[in-house]
Amino acid sequence: MRKMFLAALVVCAVAIATPFSVTSQSPQYDLLITGARVVDGSGSPPRRADVAINAGRIAAMTGTISRASAKEVLDASGLILAPGFIDVHTHADDIWARPRAENFVRMGVTSIVAGNCGGSAADIAAAFERAAQTPASVNFATLIGHNTVRRAVMGSENRDPTMGEIEKMKALVWKAMADGAVGFSTGLQYVPGTYSKTPEIIELARVAANAGGLYASHMRNEGTALEESVEEALRIGNVSGARVQISHLKVDSPSRWGASEQALALIDGARKRGREVEADQYAYTAASSSLGIRFPSWALEGGQSKITERLNDAATWTRIKGEIRGLLAERGLKDLAFAKIASYRSDPSLNGLSMAEAAGKLKGSTSEDAQLETAREMMLAGGASMVYHFMSDDDVHRIMKHPFVGFASDSGVLTPGAGVPHPRGYGNNARVLGEYVRVRKVISLEEAVRKMTSLPAKHFRFTDRGLVKEGYAADLVLFDPRTVADAATFEKPHAYATGIPHVLVSGVLVVKNGEHTGATPGALLRSVAAR
Ligand SMILES: [Zn+2]
Repeated sequence: MRKMFLAALVVCAVAIATPFSVTSQSPQYDLLITGARVVDGSGSPPRRADVAINAGRIAAMTGTISRASAKEVLDASGLILAPGFIDVHTHADDIWARPRAENFVRMGVTSIVAGNCGGSAADIAAAFERAAQTPASVNFATLIGHNTVRRAVMGSENRDPTMGEIEKMKALVWKAMADGAVGFSTGLQYVPGTYSKTPEIIELARVAANAGGLYASHMRNEGTALEESVEEALRIGNVSGARVQISHLKVDSPSRWGASEQALALIDGARKRGREVEADQYAYTAASSSLGIRFPSWALEGGQSKITERLNDAATWTRIKGEIRGLLAERGLKDLAFAKIASYRSDPSLNGLSMAEAAGKLKGSTSEDAQLETAREMMLAGGASMVYHFMSDDDVHRIMKHPFVGFASDSGVLTPGAGVPHPRGYGNNARVLGEYVRVRKVISLEEAVRKMTSLPAKHFRFTDRGLVKEGYAADLVLFDPRTVADAATFEKPHAYATGIPHVLVSGVLVVKNGEHTGATPGALLRSVAAR
C-alpha cells in the first residue's frame, strides 16, 4: 500500500516537472562549438561566432549561443573554425580498404573525390556498394576514368577506337554517370589514354556533361607542351559542354619555368568567354608518378611482356635510351638525379634514393648512363613509383594566387610506414595554411580556406558542403592558425599534420584532440544525375 502510494507520488512529480524541465532545459542541439573564429569558406575574413549542430547539420551560427542548449559543448577558443576541406583530386579508389582515411582527416579533409588521372573503379555502382558496406571517415565521390574505360574496351592498344568501340566506351561512361560518378577524368600521360586523340575524349566528356558531370584532366603534357595541353583541355570543355577541372596544374620542366603565366592566361581567357574552368594544385615543388612516365609511350604499349621484349632487345633499348635522353634535354634536365624512388617492390632498400644514388648502389657509378641502365632494370622488374623534383617556387606561387585554383593532394589513403610516398598525402592542406599562408604570406587565410572548400564544392556541385552556413552539412575543421603545419617531409613522409585538433564529418568528431576517434560517418556523394 505504502509502495503504491510512493509510486503514485513519483509519477505525479514527473508529470508536474515535465512541462518546465523539458521545454526550458532539454538541449536543443547535439553539439555546440564555442569561442572559435569562423572562416566560413566564402572568402570573408574571420569573425567570432558560436556554431550549433543538430542531426549532422549546422543548425545555428551567431555571436553567442547558450551552453545549456546543447548536449555537448566543444570549447574552441583560439581556434579557427572552417568548413571541412574538400580534396577533389585523390586516388583513394579503394577507400573501403582503409576507411579511417587517417592521412586525409588528420589534415582537415572531410570529402574526397577518387577516380582521377584516368584511373577509377570500372563499376561505379559496385564501388559505391562496397563503400556503403564499409563506411569511411570521409565523404566519398568518384569520377569515371578514361584509361579504365579504354582498357576495358581496347586493352592497351596504340590506335584510334572503331565506331563500335567508341559506342562501347560511351555506354560505360553513361552507366558510370547514372550510377553516381561526378564526372569523367583523363590521364593523357599514361597508357592507354596517351594513345587517344582529342575527338575521342570529346565524345566521352560529352556523355559526362549531359549527365551534369565535369571533365577532370590530367593533361597530355605539363611542361614542354603545357600551353597546347591546356588548350586541348579547354577545347574538350568547349565542344563537349563539360565544366573543366585541370588537375595538379604545374610546370614540370626547368626549361619551361615561368610558363604558368601563359597557362593561367589561357584559363582566364576561357573564363572570360563564360566557360567554367578551374584547376587544382598541390603545394610542393616535386611531383609523384610512375617510373614509366619517363619512357616514350610507344615503349610501354601492350603490357609488361611487350615492355620486357623491347628492353631486352639491344637495338630497341638503344633507341628508347636515346629518346629518354632527348625528352630530358628538352625539359632542361641533364639526368635522372631529380627522380627519387618512392616505392620499388622488387628491392625496397632502394626506396628513398635518387636514381643517381640507386645507380651508385647497383652499378658502382652515378653517371647518366648508369642511371638509365638502372631505370631499365627497374622497368624489367615491374616499374616503381617515383617522386620527381622539377618545379619552381615561382610557378607554385603564381598558380596558388590564381582565384580559381584550389588545392588537392593527388594522394591515396596511405598506410603509415609503407614506402616513401610524396608527403602531400599527409600534409598538403596543412602546408598551405602553415608554410604558404603564415610563413610565406602568398595568400590570405580566408582565401586559402575558400580554395579548399566553397570553390571546389561549387564546381563539383556538392550543393550543401563547403561553407559554414545554416542548413549545410556539419563538415568542419578546427585548427590553430599559429601552429598548423605539415610534418611530413620527402625524407620522412609518414607524419600527420599538426595544429588541427578537431575534425567533424556530418557533425561527428572523426578527429578529437588530435587523435582519430574511429568514427566513420562519411557519406557517399553521388552525382546529381544519380540522385
Ligand atoms: Zn594525375
